[in-house]
Amino acid sequence: SEELLRRTEKLAVAGRLAASIAHEINNPLEAITNCLYLAAGTELSDLSRSYIELAQNELDRVAQITVQTLRFYRGSTRTVETDVHELIETVFALLESRLRGLQIEVVRQFRATSSVMVQAGEIRQVLANLFGNAMDALPSGGRILLRTAATRDWRSGRHGIAITVADNGTGMDSATLNRLFEPFFSTKGITGTGLGLWISHEIVAKHRGTLHVRSRATENGVAGGTVFRLFIPTEDESYSSDTAKTEAKALTRVV
Ligand code: ADP
Repeated sequence: SEELLRRTEKLAVAGRLAASIAHEINNPLEAITNCLYLAAGTELSDLSRSYIELAQNELDRVAQITVQTLRFYRGSTRTVETDVHELIETVFALLESRLRGLQIEVVRQFRATSSVMVQAGEIRQVLANLFGNAMDALPSGGRILLRTAATRDWRSGRHGIAITVADNGTGMDSATLNRLFEPFFSTKGITGTGLGLWISHEIVAKHRGTLHVRSRATENGVAGGTVFRLFIPTEDESYSSDTAKTEAKALTRVV
């Protein structure tokens, strides 16, 4: 887990760097966008116009990357008591139209019994990334399972809510699994930014939660799939460590 810590720290540094670059890039980006817009309004040959359109499209892509990065680091810090099932449904409502065209069955197993204190917008972003990735993994249909449960983190012993997003889609090979939380890592070519899971990981860490993944690539006709498990603590860490201390004391007394 020292390795994990090093990785997490590395990602956090990379994140701050990405955010400051994104910020610096934003202004010249806007200037270029305006220039291209003005140029497109002048008299041009078809060839010149097609070059400008190409440049505009690529610029949109850069803008998309900076917006995604900045949105995360703008950092409103208000946490609110949130019903996880409501949160899941609002995210799903946004993706409804995309789902309609696909042969995807969504199964809900909602068993969480309490709400969580979270920055709702950020957790919504995490869920949107997980759902979006699950849909991308099911180009010819399949099943997405959404499960919530009241649980206890096996490592820290904290109580919390687990949200599972599973799909029986393409799955991932080990090379992808090793890198999926890295910024800008994507296997989706032009349609991916590679920022979704990296940002999700950062958001979850900020909530002192965990995001785990298990996956198997579809191979030789054996169906694969992916399970993401998001854990959000419902009890304060300091509280739980105090409780642990008290419990430990009580225990020594008994022993
Ligand atoms: P993007 O979706 O833009 O590529 P992400 O950070 O969200 O960026 O994901 C990184 C990569 O992780 C994806 O390109 C894909 O290879 C892999 N991945 C994530 N979720 C899944 C999933 N549910 N099934 C298969 N591969 C996935």
